[in-house]
Amino acid sequence: MDVVGWTTIVVISAALIFMLLEKLFPYTKGQKIFREGFFYDFFLYTIAQSYILGLIIFGFLEYIKTNTNLYEYSLIGHWPIWLQILFFLFTHDLYIYWFHRWQHNNKFLWRIHEAHHSPKTVDWLSGSRSHTFEILINQTIEFAPIILLGAAPIVPALKGMIDAVWGMFIHSNIDARMGRLQYFINGPEMHRWHHSDDDGKEYQNNYGTKFAFWDWMFGTAYFPDPKIKKPKQYGIARDMPEYPLTELNEKEKSLAQKNKFIHIAVIVFKDTVSYIKQFIFAFRRFETKEEARTTTINRENSKGSTDNTSFEDINVLARENKEA
Ligand SMILES: [Zn+2]
Ligand SMILES: [Zn+2]
Repeated sequence: MDVVGWTTIVVISAALIFMLLEKLFPYTKGQKIFREGFFYDFFLYTIAQSYILGLIIFGFLEYIKTNTNLYEYSLIGHWPIWLQILFFLFTHDLYIYWFHRWQHNNKFLWRIHEAHHSPKTVDWLSGSRSHTFEILINQTIEFAPIILLGAAPIVPALKGMIDAVWGMFIHSNIDARMGRLQYFINGPEMHRWHHSDDDGKEYQNNYGTKFAFWDWMFGTAYFPDPKIKKPKQYGIARDMPEYPLTELNEKEKSLAQKNKFIHIAVIVFKDTVSYIKQFIFAFRRFETKEEARTTTINRENSKGSTDNTSFEDINVLARENKEA
């Protein structure tokens, strides 16, 4: 079996194991497998989008490789495979930490990251929800050095496999209780807080993906004891109720209850529309400062909030209007 074959089997097996562990040891109780966005997260983001973007990114890198002499230097091709993998894991993760942190603090970059924060249910699959442009940028930057520094041909496949498995793990709804390991390796305990939609600003912490030590080093770690405190809700709906997710209206719900096939057809159609809407939503007009202020006041009033948070402190402003 070739490397693509067995790495695919590893990824599928890992997904099945995570699903089983979510069932046995749930971090957040009561989450459903077939929740909002299951269809588009799985078929559109994970399979279709990844496949098409993979062709574009690797096609582009192959073009550079064959039309320049960069590859001929093969700077790291003679290193042992494990060292090549470790080198790219480490350097890419450092890049991702800072780029991710920047996305949370820049109104343009936040636009291509909000899709990733939109799931109200965080599980093994939800991490795949990322805007096309976020994947294009991050994976081109990830795989360009692997291809252009002349890494061994097995390295991109192994790196892709590790990305997929680790990505599923940190989002998985598993009560992992990693203890001190969570100071070094990232896991669901810290990353699920990054997706929290609670009153505080916990999502502005824990930017690391594979390694947790970046957050501890750069002062952005948030790791309360899971026995005492866990996120109450996930997503961005509290601050951005207008974000396009799939919701069935009453008529669709009653139709769905009557017939399973109609239910599936409705979900397939509405999820496809949601996927397209989420792509387009990133390019909406920016609110002026005054409009953002009014939106914030209206939202706070409609929530009946009693806290005395100043306007500048409110998440919407932090997310939407922080200057580049
Ligand atoms: Zn984020
Ligand atoms: Zn995430």
